[in-house]
Amino acid sequence: MNRIPVQSSNLLSVGYEEGILEVEFVSGKVYKYFDVPAYVYDDLLSGGLGSVGRYFREAVVKSNYMYVEVKETKMEPEQRFCNECGERWTDTGDFKCPFCGSQDTEIDDSEDTDDEPEPIAA
Ligand SMILES: [Zn+2]
Repeated sequence: MNRIPVQSSNLLSVGYEEGILEVEFVSGKVYKYFDVPAYVYDDLLSGGLGSVGRYFREAVVKSNYMYVEVKETKMEPEQRFCNECGERWTDTGDFKCPFCGSQDTEIDDSEDTDDEPEPIAA
């Protein structure tokens, strides 16, 4: 979900989608609050009660919405390896081996090795 930056000492950004309010705190933690009415999000953005942080405490925290912490895991770039020379590199979407020029390369999906033999370690 897209979050909009807010002016607050404890919130960095907020987003809203179909009843789910997503809040990013300055600590870096992100929480989703469920079944939040759209007007709460609107008031939050417009700094109701004088400040975003205060409105958040009064309108969201004290309302005891169900919430979960969102673990924002960084996407690991996929590794590609060359069947020809055995080199590995970070996949850029180009299947041509940057080392030997071979086009016989594969995404290294180590969790699915059923039909592919493990590449031999150097
Ligand atoms: Zn190669």
